[in-house]
Amino acid sequence: MTPQQISELQRLDKAHLWHPFTQMQNWIASEEDPLIIASGKGAVLADVEGNKYFDGNSSIWTNVHGHGHPTIDAAIREQLDKIAHCSALGFSSEPAIRLAEKLVGLFPEETLTRVFFTDDGSTAIECACKMAVQYRQLKGETERTDFVSFGGAYHGDTMGAASLGGIGTFTDRFGGSGYPVHRVESMEELAGWSNEEAQSANAVIIEPLIQGAAGMKTWPEGMLKQLREWCDRHGVFLILDEVMTGFGRTGRMFACEHEEVIPDFLCLAKGLTGGYMPLAATLTTERVFEAFLGRYEELKTFFYGHSYCANPLGCAAALGSLQIFEEEDVISSLPSRIESFHRYLEQTVERVPHFGDFRQVGLVAGIDLVDAETGGELDWKNETGARICRAARNHGLLTRPVRDTLTLMPPLCSTDEQIADAVIALEKATAEVLSA
Ligand SMILES: *Cc1c(COP(=O)(O)O)cnc(C)c1O
Repeated sequence: MTPQQISELQRLDKAHLWHPFTQMQNWIASEEDPLIIASGKGAVLADVEGNKYFDGNSSIWTNVHGHGHPTIDAAIREQLDKIAHCSALGFSSEPAIRLAEKLVGLFPEETLTRVFFTDDGSTAIECACKMAVQYRQLKGETERTDFVSFGGAYHGDTMGAASLGGIGTFTDRFGGSGYPVHRVESMEELAGWSNEEAQSANAVIIEPLIQGAAGMKTWPEGMLKQLREWCDRHGVFLILDEVMTGFGRTGRMFACEHEEVIPDFLCLAKGLTGGYMPLAATLTTERVFEAFLGRYEELKTFFYGHSYCANPLGCAAALGSLQIFEEEDVISSLPSRIESFHRYLEQTVERVPHFGDFRQVGLVAGIDLVDAETGGELDWKNETGARICRAARNHGLLTRPVRDTLTLMPPLCSTDEQIADAVIALEKATAEVLSA
């Protein structure tokens, strides 16, 4: 691309695009021109000028096996030669059928047996919640109105999903709309509930093991199992939001495997297609499914769906991704890389005075930035995390912070060396920004 073509694109971006979670006044006024990604291969992205970067947050937590993986590319191309999209309302397609079977096969027999496809994480959550709401109606359990969610939770941005969230920045301004939510901070708080309180709960929703948007906050070991037991004891559904944690991120295929927990609803998205296309799935049990069965005029039908439900191209990509997990034995290759990642993080955090606490689950990590003198939090208004990630670009790393927590979530295909370099890039960028 010529310099003229690039500046033309950058001008048009500022003239017409509205970027997510972005203060556009700053974006437009910035001296700096938007970074325009042109291509990707493996864990490396290239911009229109040909600069290369390590994809340090897996393109916002989506990419799994790297960009341009031949298996997924071929799966999509093969499907494209047949048809790109056909409706799942009243019809079916081979990729959707095969993918549903594969997904169900990733869990013990007769546990999660039904798959409802949607488009992204938020809609996978909406789908689970609406199933839970309608289930209670169908069973006449009208007292079970509330969703229980955790402080710091993030479950997406559609109105219903956002109402479950526990991060004020995302939810407060839209307050009053959405599901009736009872928010708790910990398992201990929930365990302290009276029987009566528990009877008002429809479902508990949680990001298992680690809350992403909260700043990579980890739950105590064993908590998920306790939560499953609490839900069983009180007849409350357990919805697991594995939109971030699914597909190998935590070192197992799904985070719930670490504590041998099977939810009533499992929400998958981001990594489902290997990070190629928007596709999501809500898995549930035969018990839930059967409650919706009846004659047409009984109106037990689950009245929910989207135009692109079970999009065949997306399903083909997801099948390609699952094929890679099998053929390349991806999960068993992870422990050594996770260990190296831990070592790099530990050594670096020890060395860098501006790095405070860090948390890691599998190939997901968050490092808190702190005041080097007091060890306290930084003033969020200074956007330190964002400035450091900006500076890290010059060291070949692309990632995005959660406020003043630096995050790294390398694609599962990353090498030890790439991961080590990413940690070093954050260290160098931090030194530049905070000593300037
Ligand atoms: C990203 C995310 C969502 C929302 O997914 P979208 O595809 O962005 O709608 C929900 N839950 C968790 C845990 C996420 O990380």
